[in-house]
Amino acid sequence: MKKIAVLTSGGDAPGMNACLRAVVRTAIYHKMEVMGIVHGYDGMIRDEFIKMDEKSVANIIHRGGTILKTARSKEFMTDEGRKKALHNLQKYGIEGVVVIGGDGSFKGAMEFSKTAKIPFVGCPGTIDNDLAGTDYTIGYDTAINTVVQAVDKVRDTAESHDRLFFVEVMGRDSGMIAMLAGIGAGAESILIPETKTDIQQLVERLKNKRKTKNSKIIIVAEGDEAGGAFVIAEQVKKQLPDYDTRVTVLGHLQRGGSPSAMDRVNSSRMGYAAVEALLKGEKNVMIGIIDKSIVYTPFEKATKQKQKMDPDLLRMLDILSI
Ligand code: ATP
Repeated sequence: MKKIAVLTSGGDAPGMNACLRAVVRTAIYHKMEVMGIVHGYDGMIRDEFIKMDEKSVANIIHRGGTILKTARSKEFMTDEGRKKALHNLQKYGIEGVVVIGGDGSFKGAMEFSKTAKIPFVGCPGTIDNDLAGTDYTIGYDTAINTVVQAVDKVRDTAESHDRLFFVEVMGRDSGMIAMLAGIGAGAESILIPETKTDIQQLVERLKNKRKTKNSKIIIVAEGDEAGGAFVIAEQVKKQLPDYDTRVTVLGHLQRGGSPSAMDRVNSSRMGYAAVEALLKGEKNVMIGIIDKSIVYTPFEKATKQKQKMDPDLLRMLDILSI
């Protein structure tokens, strides 16, 4: 293999740049040429290919977002769009592609491979940590640290005014951010899509907890079945009118920021492993880290199965938040 391409796709995540740097420098070490594709699959279709060298990835390991930019591409979902993308890859003589993105990006790669022979290897770039086949996804550690810092600040106000705060965090289909950030921030309760939310039970818990502490933090994953934080707060307030109830939606600030040390290290390991995987002849696999070791998981499995939520963590949160 003499020439590869790399792109970032889907939602941006802190650590994508560190991963990109590792891909480019590992490829150069193996005497390969590397092209960066700007704007994800859209750029593959619209011919936004740029030559990368050692210098083009200098001084980016600490930067959030992605210097290659990213996009959600409707056109890549069509046969016509993927044909144009293949044409461009062939035009530049690309023999392998590293895609840094989430489950949608890997589904796109699988669709592409039905008609094209160029191998794709993926690095899990998503703050959600919702892919099977890896303990961590790129950006997850930074995101939970960002949430914990934000909740610490909210707690100062909650504590000073004896308030009940509902803090909504990212996670349309996954409660992974809510879970670890909730434990780290010492939340009273977390509400996540993976478990049934019983408002009545929450109200009872809050009534009992009132005896020990007057401020309360409830973390709500945006995809919780009972609705977002505003809906849940409204229902709770009806039954606990004495509480001074507030809602904070953390939103996009969870995506940004300089990657944590853990994200930089994991992203570097994954980018390096992705290039070596292509050289070994792997295709349609996602690079992951399980129990500190690099593992390959077929895209099919990584996107179909979800990262499993440890029920013992939920139990522990309940016990610790008395
Ligand atoms: P995040 O987890 O941050 O949302 P993601 O990679 O899951 O990242 P998506 O927007 O779901 O983000 O997917 C990225 C892109 O992958 C889509 O914009 C689309 O171009 C492509 N894609 C997703 N699913 C398919 C599919 N079934 N067929 C072809 N392309 C797809």
